[in-house]
Amino acid sequence: MINIETILASDISAELKHIAQKVFHKQRISPEEGLWLFHKAELGFLGSLANMVRERLHGDNTYFNRNFHIEPTNICIYNCSFCSYKRNAGQEGAWEFSTDEMLEMVKKYDGQPVTEVHIVGGVHPKRDLHYYGELLKTIKTHRPDLHIKAFTAVELEFMIKRAGMSISEGLKALKTYGLDSIPGGGAEIFDEQIRKEVCGAKSTTDIWLEIHETAHKVEIPSNATILYGHIEKYEHRIDHMLRLRDLQDRTGGFNTYIPLKFRKENNHLSYLGEVSTEEDLRNYAVSRIFLDNIPHLKAYWPMIGKPTTQLALSFGVDDIDGTIDDTTKIYTMAGVEDQTPVMNTASLVELIKGANRIAVERDTLYNTIKAY
Ligand code: SF4
Repeated sequence: MINIETILASDISAELKHIAQKVFHKQRISPEEGLWLFHKAELGFLGSLANMVRERLHGDNTYFNRNFHIEPTNICIYNCSFCSYKRNAGQEGAWEFSTDEMLEMVKKYDGQPVTEVHIVGGVHPKRDLHYYGELLKTIKTHRPDLHIKAFTAVELEFMIKRAGMSISEGLKALKTYGLDSIPGGGAEIFDEQIRKEVCGAKSTTDIWLEIHETAHKVEIPSNATILYGHIEKYEHRIDHMLRLRDLQDRTGGFNTYIPLKFRKENNHLSYLGEVSTEEDLRNYAVSRIFLDNIPHLKAYWPMIGKPTTQLALSFGVDDIDGTIDDTTKIYTMAGVEDQTPVMNTASLVELIKGANRIAVERDTLYNTIKAY
């Protein structure tokens, strides 16, 4: 691991040396310093710095879980310009599963040691909080030990409003139905102007943050994402992380930060192309250093591919999500290389060990199930 002598002896700029010393001494870096790292830090040194933070928090442990996804529908009232997934009702490629069909998906895993179901989808105009609540209850009745991580803040805002409830009432009701935690989706980019340009119609930044803050207050933990690599600039990524860091200071309810890379196929922003692997690594590294109060940083392997995921483990990442199965369509429809994102536990462990790290199977809340 990098140490203070290495930092002081390094042939790096005075600015980088100053930031590195702060990170070494566990001092929080400022937005200006975060921006400087994005723009100017030499990638190898930046990686070492992020790796120091990662190893201080988790050693070589690299976490994964055994999960599967249910995407109830891709019918959505919104039309985000980066989205390759949404369809209108009746349009070719649209789906909406019934509760019975979704229960059958859960039953496929009977007798298998999965610990989590991840449920997200489009914002269906006709499905409300009680419809989804009954789904959660049906799943819990069948398999009480399965952790249900469900619904982005965007889906939550719509279903809670339709039920005529306050955010707090809606979240408490869903918790009673069986909701255990909330994933981080729908955050996209918090800067109001950029958000307006890429997904102006859906939940505002303030609503996203309010839903997560309220969730934490009623003891529903959550994750947070960012969508990067489209029209945003580095300052927008820093602004995004700053708002999360401030919220986390108040509640401590985020477990994991998950940078999601914009992928270009089949959406209105295809003309932008995609950022490089180097950019992905830089983004992970700055995120790990800047977000000093969110314990975990996740690389979502179906999105960036297995080789980059291995590299990311040296740039601050300590979690690579789960076994997933082929049950998520969100990224396959946006043109990722791996069109059948399936990895069993043995291949996940192999991927982690191939990067000289320790594979640790966890549950959703990061309790260790088994170290390999
Ligand atoms: S990103 Fe989500 S909210 Fe936006 S159009 Fe796609 S499914 Fe709907």
